[in-house]
Amino acid sequence: SRRAVATILALGASAAQFVRPALAQPVTVKADVRIDANEHPEGPIAQAVTAATAALSKSNRYAPGTEREDLITTIAAIDGVKPDMVVPWPGSSDPLYRLVRAYSSATRGLVVAAPVFEMAAGIATDAGYKVTPVPVRPSDLAHDVKAMLAADPNAGLYYICNPNNPVGTLTPLADIEWLAAHIKSDAILLIDEAYIDYTPAQKSTALLAKYPNVVILRTFSKVYGMAGMRMGYTLARPDLIKPLMDWGSPSPYMLPVPAIAAATASLKNYGEITKRVEAIAITRDWTIARLEALGYKSTKGLCNCFMVDWRTPAKPVQQAILAKGVAIGRNWPVWPNMSRITVGTPAEMKAFIAAVEAVKP
Ligand code: PMP
Repeated sequence: SRRAVATILALGASAAQFVRPALAQPVTVKADVRIDANEHPEGPIAQAVTAATAALSKSNRYAPGTEREDLITTIAAIDGVKPDMVVPWPGSSDPLYRLVRAYSSATRGLVVAAPVFEMAAGIATDAGYKVTPVPVRPSDLAHDVKAMLAADPNAGLYYICNPNNPVGTLTPLADIEWLAAHIKSDAILLIDEAYIDYTPAQKSTALLAKYPNVVILRTFSKVYGMAGMRMGYTLARPDLIKPLMDWGSPSPYMLPVPAIAAATASLKNYGEITKRVEAIAITRDWTIARLEALGYKSTKGLCNCFMVDWRTPAKPVQQAILAKGVAIGRNWPVWPNMSRITVGTPAEMKAFIAAVEAVKP
């Protein structure tokens, strides 16, 4: 049935899911508790809802220049970059698709970690491009940047996810900078900071001034609670972003007006976001400690996700927990005994722990 197929996809079929990322059927698992997609358990902050609601009544107009400019200058001021370095996009998977298509190829490949968010590799594989996965460093589960360079010194694109979805761990800024300094001058270092609000001290923004071939990717889909509103942005030299219009839609109208307003309001009320970060950290550490007490070790996730080691193949465990009404994240082929866990509300995590206790052999 459709639902069974959706469940199977959600639980493990990473390659199939990303055959055509832009066209893929959305995978929605029906479960009482959904801690499967690294979303925030709540919607946008109250100020963002107010701003989006007001903007909704102005949505007869295309994204107004002034509101777009307000978002750009707000981001530029926070990150200490010139406004021309900031380009808003509808989410971050849209520019990710364009970046992979524009900057890797069959000969100048894409280098990724394993495990890491698989969309970049999926897009490249679908395009027939060369993809080189490199295991994370065993000591701290960071991207092994020296091994990434050595694996393909001629790559066109090196993809770093920091913090790393699904592991939740960080790659030291010094390592990221080492890679920026050592890749070929015509290669791109793409730093996907979808989860960076959870570890704000680790922003790699300072690299932009030193290394001309760095692109940073951010999104409002995670701690901002705006996954369904589609807002993200790139930070990069404008000439690196210009070629992206050759891939995907070149429409100047692609930004939803309410989403722009919600994003700007979120940044202007950042104290509320910081409160969310603190709340998720407490819930995450509680969950990891409870799993540990049950005998299951986890990665030391620093954002809103981590991976738990079931010491037995993860897929049947995921299915058993789903049967108890809790959808958890999938597993990655490189670590078949581990599942990704998204941190939800305290009540959701209690339900998850109860489900783990119920299925524990
Ligand atoms: N990058 C990473 C690391 C992600 O985890 C995700 C969402 N799972 C995305 C990009 C894409 O999200 P969006 O298009 O909603 O910004």
